[in-house]
Amino acid sequence: MLSLYIHIPFCQSKCKYCDFLSFPSSDNVLAYKKALINEINAFDCEKPIKSIFIGGGTPSIIDSKYILEILNSLSKFKISENAEITIELNPGTVTEEKLLDYKKAGINRLSIGLQSWQNSLLKTLGRIHTIEDFLLTYNLAKKHFNNINIDLMFSLPEQSFEMWKNTLENVTNLNPQHISAYSLIVEEGTPFYDMNLNLPDEKEDRKMYHYTIDYLNSKGYFQYEFSNFAKKGYESKHNKVYWERENYKGFGLGSASLIDNIRYKNTTSMEEYLKGITISEKEVLTKEDEMAEFMFLGLRKTEGVSISKFTTLFNISPLEKYKLVLEKYKNFIEIKNDRIFLNTNGIDISNQIFVDMI
Ligand code: SF4
Repeated sequence: MLSLYIHIPFCQSKCKYCDFLSFPSSDNVLAYKKALINEINAFDCEKPIKSIFIGGGTPSIIDSKYILEILNSLSKFKISENAEITIELNPGTVTEEKLLDYKKAGINRLSIGLQSWQNSLLKTLGRIHTIEDFLLTYNLAKKHFNNINIDLMFSLPEQSFEMWKNTLENVTNLNPQHISAYSLIVEEGTPFYDMNLNLPDEKEDRKMYHYTIDYLNSKGYFQYEFSNFAKKGYESKHNKVYWERENYKGFGLGSASLIDNIRYKNTTSMEEYLKGITISEKEVLTKEDEMAEFMFLGLRKTEGVSISKFTTLFNISPLEKYKLVLEKYKNFIEIKNDRIFLNTNGIDISNQIFVDMI
């Protein structure tokens, strides 16, 4: 099967922590939509489509008629009857008319960027919306959709533990089907990188993370990946495609694809993309790359990786291939039945474990 990602790289303004490929302007929207549809038209594939994700950027900032056109251009593919079709929204950019268009286009899942419940923190982050805007968007969304994710962030500048607790409490009271909770990473090249920020320290960051797992679990949200939590049956099919190294094709500026163990990366130059130049990098993965990816992507899931699946794919057991790493981190890695997975302490030092695996 194949999953599709569509990148819409436009935002109202740039958040201060953002290093995604997005522009704080709607110049070129029409030309971009044309180039995107041309790219889609030029790609043929017989594989059935398992999921579609329209991400950004802020896809909800552009005219919803364009989203309808883009999704129409995908109708040449064999889209599975139960395909998960998600669009990312940001509060302050959504109307009921847009939501109805999304529904008409077959979209059945929304992912709303909230990040924090406190207006002071939203301002610090450079978000365009307030909590009041979010509530308007959420209530409209809930009227028409029953599969909604809310994106949150913790370890923010000036954020206290109480503020984070309050965010989780208010968000779970809304009862969305899915919650993503990421720790802020201050990336080079963002405005935050050059600012003197008052960030929670490592110990506080881990305290927030462990609290998140326990609290969301107590509210019926099952942690299925480091940063993703869902009510039963609402895990994101699209996210799982990445962690399980299934085939996916990205359309749009800077998007990535993995098809039959070949990785492709689209150009990040808008000028080139509008001229019809799409793929800029192609990498045929070696068996070593595939094995390492299988492990470090799979170990992001709380269920971890299947020993028998790894053995069937690579003709060697992961217990043998990663014997030294598994031994070195034996207090952080669990091996039960057919699965290898990280325990909570292992998640805290996962980067270190993954580096050793590579
Ligand atoms: S809305 Fe998302 S993509 Fe746009 S600037 Fe903010 S973080 Fe980046």
